[in-house]
Amino acid sequence: MDGPGLGSPSYGLSRSLYRELLPRLPDSGMAHGTRADRRCLLETCEAAMQRLVFDPDACANPARSLFREVRHLFAIDAQADVWELVRFHVTAGRSLASRFESTLRRECQAITRQGTPCRREPTAGRRFCPSHYGLEDALAPAEGRAEADSELLTAA
Ligand SMILES: [Zn+2]
Repeated sequence: MDGPGLGSPSYGLSRSLYRELLPRLPDSGMAHGTRADRRCLLETCEAAMQRLVFDPDACANPARSLFREVRHLFAIDAQADVWELVRFHVTAGRSLASRFESTLRRECQAITRQGTPCRREPTAGRRFCPSHYGLEDALAPAEGRAEADSELLTAA
């Protein structure tokens, strides 16, 4: 199994959102949505919930941006339901994130030239301290920001 795994605080939320959205996918004859649609939905939900919990400042309006990412999968008459479900889960994710933030140790994600993790506190909303901003700029444009995120998180 790929994805954030059972231990991740965002896991339950993304699975709950996926389970709620799944029956609203258009009927493909055998199941709700095509295989590709279901996979796209699951991955998008997981990436969004993970981002929301671990990197809450990454996006100004996470509900709207998640909705924009998934709405093409649903028929017009399902859009209002989908929006409500997305908004509900993003709100839950935000409250989880704010509780989680105080327990999550905030440290710069860089490795120093000595090969030890940098111990400085990153600037609010960023993952690196001022001496390591350069690394953040190098990471940011890479495709799959969520992948980079989970690598950084599991490396800790
Ligand atoms: Zn640093």
